Amino acid sequence: MIPIARPQMGEEEKRLVWEAMEAGSLAQGPRVRALEEAFAAYIGTGHAVATSSGTTALHLALLGHGIGPGDEVVTVPFTFIASANCVVYTGARPAFVDVRADDFTLDPDLLEDAITPRTRAILPVSLYGQPARMDEIAAIAERHGLAVIEDAAQAHGAAIGDRRSGSWGIGAFSFYPTKNMTTGEGGMITTDDADLAERIRLLREHGMKVRYHHDVVGYNFRMTDIGAAIGLAQLPKLPAANDRRRAIAARYDAELRGVMTPVVRPGVTHVFHQYTIRVRERDRFAARLAELGVGSGVYYPIGVHRQKPFLALGYGDGSYPVTERLTSEVLSIPVHPGLSDGEVATVIEAVNRTAGELGPFEGER
Ligand SMILES: *Cc1c(COP(=O)(O)O)cnc(C)c1O
Repeated sequence: MIPIARPQMGEEEKRLVWEAMEAGSLAQGPRVRALEEAFAAYIGTGHAVATSSGTTALHLALLGHGIGPGDEVVTVPFTFIASANCVVYTGARPAFVDVRADDFTLDPDLLEDAITPRTRAILPVSLYGQPARMDEIAAIAERHGLAVIEDAAQAHGAAIGDRRSGSWGIGAFSFYPTKNMTTGEGGMITTDDADLAERIRLLREHGMKVRYHHDVVGYNFRMTDIGAAIGLAQLPKLPAANDRRRAIAARYDAELRGVMTPVVRPGVTHVFHQYTIRVRERDRFAARLAELGVGSGVYYPIGVHRQKPFLALGYGDGSYPVTERLTSEVLSIPVHPGLSDGEVATVIEAVNRTAGELGPFEGER
């Protein structure tokens, strides 16, 4: 079976991890600092703060803005649940806005209707490796005096023009093993705001600047030096890995038949964390692909507003027609950089054959 994801671990990862272990540098240390500096330089922000996961990066981004009970944060229901859970952790309330059917990201045309006097931040998700419409969103946020927190967990290296994901307001990245680069578990916050970065650093470490002197109630959301060692080996390989993802995506664009292929907006660098098609009879389609030796994934089968904890919080009645449609149509096929050309050909053959058997997709963008 060709897997939907396959982390790329090489000699450099082994060497750097072994060095960290030999140095006895296991928890947060010099490698975390080095990864923060290298990542900030790559994204083009003044500051980067490493965290224990993408989820804790999002959580700290909200806490850094002082968001809490009584506040609202606008996000999308078509995402991984962490994008909304992080809001709930703070005591604030997520307010959902539907996504666009063409690029799967927050629809800026619906945004202003969701903004209330309680709204403090907008948290768009750069899903599958394509930046959300950050320029429009940031302009609306500025008009209303709101913070922008980009969930860039799937968008390492993605860009609009020459501006990278993570460089509007705050960016929150994940380094989970299946993401475009990994540290095992881990995350990163990027920002140009030095004071915000400082507050977030404080919250990451139990509110402690001077050892055992605590200024605020903080957390332990630190990355390990072992994880950072993996990340230091992964980051230099990210541009080539993203290029390989794009080359595979270009072959899919040209050769897939009977399915709806993804849209890349003009001027945007898509890093294809996922290559997501829309198909007829999605669950049968995926089962047939598996029979033909091709793994696939559904990201995501249920809108966040319909997940059990959110139903319990009183969501579920909201009307998010695009999300409802996408959750039953989307299917991601393998696009990771470790695929051989032969495996890419196998995926194309399997998708085209299955679409031939089940009939062409006829929905609209
Ligand atoms: C992976 C992911 C997260 C959470 O990252 P973790 O490192 O798994 O905590 C948040 N949002 C999105 C869109 C993700 O894909």
